[in-house]
Amino acid sequence: MHSPTTSGPLPRDIQTVVVGGGILGLCVAGFLAEEGREVAIIDAGRPEGTTTNAGSLHVQMQSRFMRMHPDQVPALESGLHLYPKAVEFWFELQRHLDADFGLKASGGLMVAESREQLDFLAKKAERERSLGLDSKILDRDELDQIAPYLGPAVVGAELCADEGRLDALKANTALRRWVRRVGVMVTGETSVDRVSRDGGRFKLDTSRGTVRAATLVIAAGPGSLTLAEPFGLTLPVESEPLHMNITEPTDLFIGHLVQHADRMITVKQLSSGHVVIGGGWPADLSPSEDYAAVRLSSIIGNTSLAQHIVPAIGRLRIIRTWAGINTPTGGPGILGPIHGAPNAFLAIPGEAGYTLGPLSARLVADTVLGRRPTEDLAPFSPSRFR
Ligand SMILES: Cc1cc2nc3c(=O)[nH]c(=O)nc-3n(C[C@H](O)[C@H](O)[C@H](O)COP(=O)(O)OP(=O)(O)OC[C@H]3O[C@@H](n4cnc5c(N)ncnc54)[C@H](O)[C@@H]3O)c2cc1C
Repeated sequence: MHSPTTSGPLPRDIQTVVVGGGILGLCVAGFLAEEGREVAIIDAGRPEGTTTNAGSLHVQMQSRFMRMHPDQVPALESGLHLYPKAVEFWFELQRHLDADFGLKASGGLMVAESREQLDFLAKKAERERSLGLDSKILDRDELDQIAPYLGPAVVGAELCADEGRLDALKANTALRRWVRRVGVMVTGETSVDRVSRDGGRFKLDTSRGTVRAATLVIAAGPGSLTLAEPFGLTLPVESEPLHMNITEPTDLFIGHLVQHADRMITVKQLSSGHVVIGGGWPADLSPSEDYAAVRLSSIIGNTSLAQHIVPAIGRLRIIRTWAGINTPTGGPGILGPIHGAPNAFLAIPGEAGYTLGPLSARLVADTVLGRRPTEDLAPFSPSRFR
């Protein structure tokens, strides 16, 4: 059902169309419109900038990913240099928009509960330092100086200085206002079912009619798989439903993004005082695969673990849980021109995609504008999936 308030008018013929209004789509569209491009976003749901994410700004490699996909660690390492730059870019964007995203980069702690876990972190930190990250190991005494809120089971941690958090609801609201201000036409509740070439233009068959565009940017998360197929690409994107929890607000007491060396957990406190608890606990995917639903066992498991790591969480009430669909790509993102299809581009950020979102979008927007992006996009090229 189309609601007139969110669906918006459908452009029939436009210079540039961006499919997907998540963090990537919003930012690519905004950057292009700022440079004078005529741009429309078309999104199957609500083009709201990825409201499901947890707002963690990740920089160090996530042990969860390393343990689940050890074969993909080299690929992840090849894109690691982007993460601190991506966090810095979030600050730049906040300044540029003169907005408040609730940004804070006061470091991230990956905690260990055993000597074995601490050894794993020590090796990881050493490897990350060699790749340019600001990472070091802290013992329990050192942790007590900066993170007295950690529970007694924690024996040490890796501190990565560049990590942090933001309030995704604030950031997405500011980004939505920005794209409208710079003239992006935003169309929701309209799925793009098929993309084809029509002379020198792209023809998009949507649930509300046909759209033609000279330039096409696919930023459709898991939906990108089908949309990229006509270009001979088989993307390794998956739909991963994940669960999240948030507590009532309380006095600020957690200063870091907290993760675990061996277990799925992220804990951080927003400037509003709410504690956000996530870290990869599973949710359920709907049969149609277009939405995710929370899972009771994840509420219990995720919050019990959070309270084990940060005991003071135990006295807080959970006020909301939600679920969303993540798009793993097997490591680095898929960014840039689709070779053999002039004026078609892909924008999929990769692991910790909200962190990477605005910077990845800037790099893709630069290639759309015919500029050399500030980072070499060859390792992220869609061509590797041809
Ligand atoms: C619960 C959860 C918590 C997360 N927490 C964090 C975090 O703390 N930090 C972090 O860095 N990352 C986090 N992530 C990952 C991050 O949210 C994603 O990597 C990132 O948001 C992806 O952005 P995107 O714009 O590429 O895709 P999406 O946000 O998935 O947006 C894609 C959009 O495309 C639209 N679409 C799809 N198919 C079509 C179609 N055929 N036609 C039209 N529109 C279409 C969809 O409706 C959607 O709006 C989290 C993910 C989840 C699920």
